[in-house]
Amino acid sequence: MSDSQVFHVKPAMAASAQVDATQYRLMTNHAEHDADAFWLEQARTRLDWVREPTLGCNAHFSGDHAIRWFEDGLLNVSANCLDRHLATRADDIALIWVGDEEGVEKRLSFRDLHEQVCRFANVLKDQGVRRGDRVAIFLPMVPEAAVAMLACTRIGAVHSVMFAGFSASSVAGRLEDCGAKVVVTADEGRRGGKRVRLKAIIDEALEAGGSPVETVIVLRVTGAEIARQPGRDLDYAELMAAASPDCTPEPMAAEDPLFILYTSGSTGKPKGVLHTTGGYLLWAAFTHSIVFDYRPGEVYWCTADIGWITGHSYGIYGPLANGATTLMFEGVPTYPDAGRWWRIIDQYQVTTFYTAPTAIRALMTAGDAPVKASSRASLRVIATVGETINPEAWLWYYHVVGEGRVPLVDTWWQTETGGHLIAGPAAIVAQKPGSATLPIPGVLPVLLDEKGQPVEGEGEGALCVAKSWPGQMRTLWGDHDRFIQSYFSTYPGYYFSGDGGRRDADGYYWVTGRMDDVINVSGHRIGSAEVESALAHHPAVAEAAVVGVPHDLKGQALFAFVILCASDLASLDAAGQRALCDELARHAGSVLGRYAAPDHVLVVPDLPKTRSGKIMRRVLRKIATNELDSLGDTSTLADPSVVDAIVERLRARDVVTAQ
Ligand code: ATP
Ligand code: MG
Repeated sequence: MSDSQVFHVKPAMAASAQVDATQYRLMTNHAEHDADAFWLEQARTRLDWVREPTLGCNAHFSGDHAIRWFEDGLLNVSANCLDRHLATRADDIALIWVGDEEGVEKRLSFRDLHEQVCRFANVLKDQGVRRGDRVAIFLPMVPEAAVAMLACTRIGAVHSVMFAGFSASSVAGRLEDCGAKVVVTADEGRRGGKRVRLKAIIDEALEAGGSPVETVIVLRVTGAEIARQPGRDLDYAELMAAASPDCTPEPMAAEDPLFILYTSGSTGKPKGVLHTTGGYLLWAAFTHSIVFDYRPGEVYWCTADIGWITGHSYGIYGPLANGATTLMFEGVPTYPDAGRWWRIIDQYQVTTFYTAPTAIRALMTAGDAPVKASSRASLRVIATVGETINPEAWLWYYHVVGEGRVPLVDTWWQTETGGHLIAGPAAIVAQKPGSATLPIPGVLPVLLDEKGQPVEGEGEGALCVAKSWPGQMRTLWGDHDRFIQSYFSTYPGYYFSGDGGRRDADGYYWVTGRMDDVINVSGHRIGSAEVESALAHHPAVAEAAVVGVPHDLKGQALFAFVILCASDLASLDAAGQRALCDELARHAGSVLGRYAAPDHVLVVPDLPKTRSGKIMRRVLRKIATNELDSLGDTSTLADPSVVDAIVERLRARDVVTAQ
């Protein structure tokens, strides 16, 4: 291998793999040479069908851009996630729920979950919800969120889960866009010892009118006082108690809509991504099983909120389709302290742990002690998704959390892709810190240069996919033109992810960041992730974000926003901070080349992030160029006050010119 840092699969892991390297190579070949036969076989063996499909792929990356898989097949998602497990593991735990406060938990067997899903499916039917109707779910991380999602799939209703941290205006826009008939919400949610008034947000979102919501079903989570609108608002528990526990799953066509999920909005107006029934479920189940080397009986934990695609594919659908025990945590990683996650791992003997770089970086700043206070002996696989993970954070996650004992899998994918596209299965592929590694069987990534030509071998370009895969999104809800425009117009004939990538001599992929964030300094095209990673490599830096600003001579110059580790920040006065900023600029230049030394480095208390924890660089660009009146849609910012705090730092002239 060409890179110095390669982490090979440990022999014991390889030897006990569910799918070994040889089988995986055969799968990859089969998927490449006869995709229809391969995926039909996977679909028939991994899922239960009411009518098995005989048709594989019917997808067009041109013309009408219609994408269809298994279109003559009939199945039901809830039956695949629940009913088919009842014969063999009805009493096994399907869902472990861990509450925000320590010591609070619930365990639901497949039988329990099945019963609740059937009841809630009947509740929805009683409210007039029919096949194809949209149901919005605005719930905290509680078991009822999984119940509501699966109940929709049971009757063929299309769910749209909205992250329970959104403001009323964000929710209102999405409710209107998807045309939800029913909203399922809670009085309040609990997160990190705080309470979020969910029902009040729904009331406010519905006040303006504009959406066809007829019914609001309210789950009592905290028992807080709430306003009730007679005729519209109904009580979850009362409806469930009155509902029948029997509900036959509706046979759905593979191409019937399954859910709408809005992207996290890092780059602009969120898009209502539509996934359909058969292809999506197969993709979630296939990748969950292969990439994590999932084994029956194991406890699997994905920390993502159900409001994001990761929570859908790897919190609910993938694991439950595979009969796994999935753990759902209501809280946040740092409450009551930074050791909480690691204690949960020990307490529930978690084997697979899947989280995001933003959380890893936050926990890293708390030091090793909270991790070391736990054993983590049950862990077998750890994994990450959401952003490029900088090698610094990768190595900490690997050595401190995983103790160098268990494989760390980076998974590159998007809301639009349904599940992993580039990821090296834990028991099969050697890992390199910061690389998403190799494509999943049947996925054909291509890197396109500025002229739209494929780059062969080693090189860099726009990360596209040449062929459809079953988990691909089908359209943007109600706006097929925007779907074509967003994903197929820049590079006709290819699906364009919006991300940039590099392929090394071993064929490994490195995601360099979003193409919108590529910075051109004196003819050098620089991905934001590379400079950020170089800055984060400096011991004083906890996290960094880099954007381009116009420059007379160079075209663009780099502007870096850095968060310092708490101890470094505390020990520095203004002059000390300035000296450190100089040093950081030189440091980035020495790691990547002088052209990559930022002209400006600003120490900030925090970075603008989406509610899924991703940095919104377009907001930083506007701040850096003082275009504060045109920040664009900031409704998905986790904490809008961050913008003011950064502007204040900028005004205080903490900017340093390095050269
Ligand atoms: P929007 O499309 O509205 O801007 P978003 O792209 O942040 O929102 P998601 O679909 O949740 O919404 O995120 C997918 C994106 O996250 C990818 O396109 C990529 O930029 C980034 N990403 C996810 N996983 C990885 C990874 N393992 N390595 C690098 N980048 C990743
Ligand atoms: Mg995106």
